[in-house]
Amino acid sequence: MEKFVHKKSLGQNFLKDEQVLQRIANSIETNDNDLIIEIGPGEGALTKYLKEKKGKLICYEVDERLTKYLSLLESENCKIIYQDFLQANLDEIENNTYDNIHFIANIPYYITTPIIEKITNSNLNVKDMVFLVQKEVAERLSAKPKNKEYGALTVILNYDYDIEYLFTVKKEVFEPIPKVDSAVIKMKKIERINKALNEERFKKIVKDSFAMKRKNIRNNLKNYDLNIVGKALTKYGYTFQNRAEEFALDFFIDLANLLENNK
Ligand code: SAM
Repeated sequence: MEKFVHKKSLGQNFLKDEQVLQRIANSIETNDNDLIIEIGPGEGALTKYLKEKKGKLICYEVDERLTKYLSLLESENCKIIYQDFLQANLDEIENNTYDNIHFIANIPYYITTPIIEKITNSNLNVKDMVFLVQKEVAERLSAKPKNKEYGALTVILNYDYDIEYLFTVKKEVFEPIPKVDSAVIKMKKIERINKALNEERFKKIVKDSFAMKRKNIRNNLKNYDLNIVGKALTKYGYTFQNRAEEFALDFFIDLANLLENNK
């Protein structure tokens, strides 16, 4: 077969280490009635291991030049859709047909956040997501408060998912070799007990709290009712001088609920 010319613009760094590929595939557990969705199968390196798992598999690949590799993997249980995942209509997936939906991907780095946002904003019954991402992004998404990597997306994702940093993947096992190492993260959907009364408002408050990372919470939330913000801060032993990166998820939920109740 003619040598494949990788497109940098599509983040085409293919993973060549079979042990790592197998480890990624093994990080989800599936049943016969589950659906696995792979984004960016490339030449099918991970796809071939996913095919061995229980359940159905749907893969979204934007580059039609990869048909020559992927068509060999197609079957009744493995469907390849040649489309930009960000343009895909996820409402077409028959959510109720499956017990659980799993997302898995070695995703192009430049669209990591839009991909995660698209999935988390969808109505799909997502059980978990396993992504190979830039190491720095994996650290950010799995960061805890008071860590410099902790940010708005981390807080918002932690509301619905338990996020675990699984393992680091050295850059040398990709072709072509990228500039930085990668890591695998797993996000497992959780049933939250302490809920925000208005989840959209909660997300807005989190984003506003982190708007200017170096500013304290008084500055970032200066357009909110500062009396109420003060009450929430006191409850958690924080002050107006603290910065959003120091606050636990529960603080943001409580603050959102206090503001919602005092509209
Ligand atoms: N899964 C393969 C592997 O692990 O070797 C390939 C991973 S490579 C990092 C990313 C893949 O995503 C490429 O095949 C690329 O063509 C595809 N891709 C890039 N942007 C995409 C998009 N918006 N929708 C679907 N696939 C995309």
